[in-house]
This record gives sequence, C-alpha cells and structure tokens, in this order.
Amino acid sequence: MTLRATVAELVREFRASGRIVIVGASLAGLRAAETLREEGFTGSLTIIGDEPYEPYDRPPLSKQVLKGWVPADHTKLPRMREVDADWRLGVAATGLDRATKQVRLANGELVPYDRLLIATGTRARQWPNPAEAALHGVHTIRSRDDAAQLQKELAEPPSRVLVIGAGFIGSEVASVCRELDIPVTVVERGAAPLVGALGGVIGEIAAQLQCDHGVDLRCGLGVSSLEGDPGGHVRRAHLSDGSTVDADVVVASLGSIRNVEWLEGSGLAAGFWGVGCDAGGRAFDINGVVTDSIYVAGDVARAPHVLYEYQFLAMEHWDNAVLGAEAAAHNMVNLEPHYRPHLLLPGFWSGQFGVNIKSVGVPPFGDEIVFTQGSVAERRFAAAYGRRGRIVAAVTFDHGKWLEYYGKLIEQSGPFPPPPPGWDQPPDMKPMPAEFPDPRVPTAIPDVVLTGHAPSERTAEFRPRRH
Ligand SMILES: Cc1cc2nc3c(=O)[nH]c(=O)nc-3n(C[C@H](O)[C@H](O)[C@H](O)COP(=O)(O)OP(=O)(O)OC[C@H]3O[C@@H](n4cnc5c(N)ncnc54)[C@H](O)[C@@H]3O)c2cc1C
Repeated sequence: MTLRATVAELVREFRASGRIVIVGASLAGLRAAETLREEGFTGSLTIIGDEPYEPYDRPPLSKQVLKGWVPADHTKLPRMREVDADWRLGVAATGLDRATKQVRLANGELVPYDRLLIATGTRARQWPNPAEAALHGVHTIRSRDDAAQLQKELAEPPSRVLVIGAGFIGSEVASVCRELDIPVTVVERGAAPLVGALGGVIGEIAAQLQCDHGVDLRCGLGVSSLEGDPGGHVRRAHLSDGSTVDADVVVASLGSIRNVEWLEGSGLAAGFWGVGCDAGGRAFDINGVVTDSIYVAGDVARAPHVLYEYQFLAMEHWDNAVLGAEAAAHNMVNLEPHYRPHLLLPGFWSGQFGVNIKSVGVPPFGDEIVFTQGSVAERRFAAAYGRRGRIVAAVTFDHGKWLEYYGKLIEQSGPFPPPPPGWDQPPDMKPMPAEFPDPRVPTAIPDVVLTGHAPSERTAEFRPRRH
C-alpha cells in the first residue's frame, strides 16, 4: 500500500469509528455536530456544554425576548438534522491535555478525543465592581436566563433603565425600552453609539436616532459607581462628570470576554482575542504551528483573512459561527486536498429604533466613508468604507437589499469610492474620515476585530541558535 493510500485508509477508519469531542454546546457546536454527521462521520460524538440547555439562539434575546414577544425558553435553535451524540450539558470543560488527548471536566471526569472542536464562544463582561454588580436590578445579557430575568423586570415596569455602553446590544436594549415606553438613559464613554463598530460619522446618525426616540443619551462619559438601597437594589448611578442618574434597572453592555481560561497550560495560541487558527479552523499552538487534531469555530476563533491583509479577524457574528463550524467540521473528517477555507465576508444586522441596520465587510479596517445611496435625513441610505482606494466594508440603514452589491465589490477589492448602483445617488458623494476611535477604549471594541500582531502577548518558545 502506498503512503497516500494508507493515509486515506486511516481517514476512512477515523470517519467510521473515531472519537470527536466538541466543547461548547451553542450555535457553532450544534452546526458542527450536524455537519459531521452530514459528512458521514459515524464514530462517537460528545458535546460538552456548561449551560444546562440545548443550543438556543442568542440574537432574539436582546430583541423579541426583551419585548416580551417570545419567551426566553422558546429560542431553541432549529435542528437541521438528527444528531446522534452524547450530550454532556451543565458541565464545564476545565482543562485540556494535548499529550494524552483528553478534556478534563468540572466533575473530574476525563473525556478522550481523537479530534477536538473548541466552540466555547464569549461571555458578557460584568460590571467591574463585584459588590455593585451583585445589586438587584443590575444585568448583563448573554444567556437565556439573563434575558428572562431582564424581561421580567422590564415588564414591571421600572421607573428608568440605565444602559452602560452603546454598542449594538446596549443600543438594542435602549430601543426596546423606548418601544415599551420606559424612560432610558444611555451612557457611552465614546463619542457616539455604535462608534467602535461603524465609526463616528455613522455614530452621529445613531446618536440622533436615539435622541429622536426619547433616549437620554450621554456620550463621552463613564459611570463611576452604582449605588443601592438598604434592600440591596440598585437605585442610582454616579457619572464621571459628577452628575447622577436615578434608575432601578441597569444593563451593563460592556462587550464580551472570550471563554479561553479552560485552555490555560494547553500550549494553544489562546488569549484575549480567542484561539488563533488557520482559515480552515485548525488551531495554532503558541509557537504558531498548526495542530492536526484541534479545531476552533465561532466567536472564540480568530483566523487570518485574505481580504484584510491576512490580519487575524475575531468576529462575534451569527453567520461566522455557522459557516466557521461547517468548514471546521468538514475539515475534521476529510483529507487535506479536500479541505475548505472559512472565508466569510463578515456581515451583521441589528434592529433598533425602527431601523434595520446591516453591515458587510470590516468597517474598522477602513479610514474613509462615503454615502453612496439614499438620504441620511430620511435614515435610509447606504455608505461604503474605504482604505487606500479600495472598498473594504459597507453599511446600510433600511437599505439592506443593496448589501449584496457592495459585498461583491468588497470581495473583488473594488474601487473606493465605489460606483453606486440604482438611481438614488446623493448629490454630494464626497469621502470623509470614518472617525473610528482608539480600539483600546473598552466600550469601543467592535464586534469584528482586527486582532493583528500583538508583540506584548508573545509567548512563543524561542530556541537558541545552533553554532
Ligand atoms: C444578546 C445578543 C444578541 C446578538 N445579536 C446578534 C445579531 O443581531 N446578529 C449577529 O450576527 N449576531 C448576534 N449576536 C452574536 C451571536 O449570537 C454569536 O455570534 C453566536 O452566538 C456565536 O456562537 P458560538 O457558538 O460561537 O458561541 P456562544 O453562543 O457564545 O456559545 C458558546 C457556548 O460554550 C459554552 N462554554 C463556554 N465555556 C465553556 C466550557 N469551558 N465548557 C463548556 N462549555 C463552555 C458557553 O456557555 C456557550 O453555551 C448576538 C449575541 C447576543 C448575546
């Protein structure tokens, strides 16, 4: 038998009776499991998740669930096919031993694997003062339980809600409050809402949108502390300018933290921005060497992207979790010539204050922006982001049908400013600075992050030169 034939036989054997473990039982974990079975993997499949629930969908949590339209426990993800798997729910993975190929669980059990998929996503960054974070009425929103509790309190209703941080989720919460006719104050450290993800020019429009809908918006300010009543319920917030806001519900929307702590000591390239992997989902070790048996997908993955100068992109997007999981799962059970890259053009949607906001590409990669279609005054427009004469992203407000057009241009590295389609070109199509803030400002971190090279985080093992 030739070497090639032997390898092919080994892969066949692995597909028939290998052991795959997936850690993280949410969107990426579920879609990977389905793909593995779809691809003909008939070996043992174990799915480990620290939440007690079967995989559910998170985008409705800050939208339909908070409005009270959909109960939090009705968000279960639809199944694309039956998945024959050993579901280990309600137990966290606490360690990874790559030498013995075992995942350690919180209950002390060791789960052996031949191939492993890391899909542990992110969690909400908590309000930094633990005593204040523990006050009744102080919330973050990431899980089904978070959304259920917040929805209950919004239904009471509170006298005022304070939202700290005006990224996508904070802005969506504020929007829901206004729809429910609840007074809401939004405090944002940056110059405007959505500024980290879409820059200052669009942030200005988002700010106007919030004000027009009755949001008490305070930008360029921080919340210094939260104050509770003797019963331990939050009642007041102190802001960095010395002012106070009385509120009995506080939603801290301060971005997310990658769930990588359980990988400490594993020797994988895991850190602040997630687990580094190649475009096929194969994890890197700390020296930048690709591993053969460990894969990564979803919010916890960061991979180089051909369209963005091979910078490592970390994306907290639904599509990225689905398509990344599908690509990784395919590659886990196929031979190298058939590997697939996960080369998604990032995309995001958000509904807030009656406007459907969509983006494609990586806006913070651009330094200029130009309005290409529609009218800002009517809040129905398309705008493109550019860098060095090429289009790198686009955003639409209630103009989503054109997004595909811009997506194609971005894929082809089309010119910036781009030729606008359709007939509704604004009279003045002049590029201007896109005004992205310093990404190190905590609440300005966008949901697609160019994580680039971080020498300060370098943990590689350098070898002495041989003489
Ligand atoms: C409120 C909200 C609104 C959103 N809205 C949108 C939207 O409008 N559009 C959009 O594109 N995206 C949106 N997103 C983002 C989208 O939901 C995520 O991109 C997606 O959930 C990522 O899936 P994932 O499986 O990679 O990670 P996650 O969904 O984070 O799942 C990871 C799972 O792993 C578990 N886990 C973590 N550590 C361990 C461990 N050590 N052991 C076992 N299990 C572990 C976690 O508890 C979790 O269940 C939203 C997210 C939130 C929270």
